[in-house]
Amino acid sequence: MRFSVSSRTLAILLSLLVASVLTALAWVAPTLSLREGVLAAGITVAACFLLLYLMFEALIFREINTIYEGLEHIKRKEFRRLSNKFLFRPEPLKRMRNEILGMAQRKQQEIDELKRLQVLRREFLADVSHELKTPIFAAQGFVHTILDDDDTDEFTRKKFLQKAAASLDALDLLVQDLVSISQLEKGVIRMRRQPFDITQLVRDIFEQLELKATRRNVTLALAPDDFQAAGGGVWVLADRNRIRQVLINLIDNAIKYGRENGHVTVALTESGKTVRVSVHDDGEGIPKQHQSRIFERFYRIDKSRTRESRDAGGSGLGLAISKHIVEAHKSTIRVHSEVGQGTTLEFKLPRPRSTDARAPLAS
Ligand code: ADP
Repeated sequence: MRFSVSSRTLAILLSLLVASVLTALAWVAPTLSLREGVLAAGITVAACFLLLYLMFEALIFREINTIYEGLEHIKRKEFRRLSNKFLFRPEPLKRMRNEILGMAQRKQQEIDELKRLQVLRREFLADVSHELKTPIFAAQGFVHTILDDDDTDEFTRKKFLQKAAASLDALDLLVQDLVSISQLEKGVIRMRRQPFDITQLVRDIFEQLELKATRRNVTLALAPDDFQAAGGGVWVLADRNRIRQVLINLIDNAIKYGRENGHVTVALTESGKTVRVSVHDDGEGIPKQHQSRIFERFYRIDKSRTRESRDAGGSGLGLAISKHIVEAHKSTIRVHSEVGQGTTLEFKLPRPRSTDARAPLAS
C-alpha cells in the first residue's frame, strides 16, 4: 500500500499528539484552570506544528536537492530554469513528481520518434539497395555476356551494349533523384522564384515527351487552349526549373499509367491570387487506399507495374520529389482519382504581384 501522508498532515498529527499529552498533564494538574489548559494546548499545537512542519520541509528540500543534482545530468537546461521555482514553493514533492512524469513522457516521445525514424531509415536503405541492384545487375550481365562469349557477332554485341547503357542511364536517373530528394529533405535547396509563363513551360514539356506519348498513342493537350491567342499566357511566381521537374513527373506518369490511345490534359485555372495546375489522364485510376501513399519514396501500387515503370524510366521517387517541391512553394499536391475513370494530380502556384510581374497579369 502507498504511504501518502503529506508533511503538513504529519506535522499536525504529531503536534496534536504532543499537545494532547501536555494538555492531559496540565488538566490532571490542579494548578491550571480549563481556560488556561485550552490556551496552553493551542500554543503547543501551533509551536509543534511550525517546528515539525519546517523540519519536514527542510528535510524534503534537502532530498529534492540531491535528486535534482542527479537529474541535472539528464536535463541540464530545464533544471536550471526550474530549480529555484521549486525550492521555495509549497508542495515541492507534488510539483517534482509532475515534472518528472512530464519529463519521462517527453523522453518517451523522443524515443518513439527515434525508433520510428530508425525503421524508416532501415526501410529506405533496403529500398535504395534494391533499386540500385536492378540496373547494376542488368548492366553487369550484358557486359559479362559480351566479355565471356567470344563468338558473339557484332550486331548482338551492339544490342547488349545498348541494353547495358540503358540500365546505366536508369542508374544515373535513380542516383540523381536520390540526390534531389535528400537535398530537398535536408532543406538545402532554395527555391528561386521568378515570374514565368507556365503555358510556355507546359508546351516545352509536351515537346520533350512527345515521343513517349506517341509510342502509347496518347494525345497531350493544354486546357483551355486559347491562352496564346488571348495573349500573355498564364503567369506564375515560382522556381521554373523545379516546377518543370514536377510537371515532367506528373505528365510522364499520366502517359505511363494512363490509357493507351488515351488523352492527357494539363489544365491551368486562374482564380484570385493563384493558378491551379492539374494533370489529368483517363487511365485505370488509383484505388482510395493507395492515394495517400503514392507520395512515399519507392511506393508503387502494384508490383507487376514496377518493372513496366522502371523500363519506362521511373525511379519510384518522382511523386515524392514533386511533393517536396510543391510544399517548398507553400502549396499542396493533391490526387483525385476514381478506379476506371482516370487520375488528376493538382497543385496551386501564386500569381506574380504587379510589382514583380514582368508581364501583364491576366484578369
Ligand atoms: P514511378 O517511377 O514508379 O512512376 P512515382 O513516384 O512517379 O514513381 O509514382 C509512384 C506510383 O504512383 C507509381 O508507381 C504508380 O503506381 C502510381 N501512379 C502515379 N501516377 C499515376 C497515375 N497518373 N495513374 C495511376 N497510377 C499512378
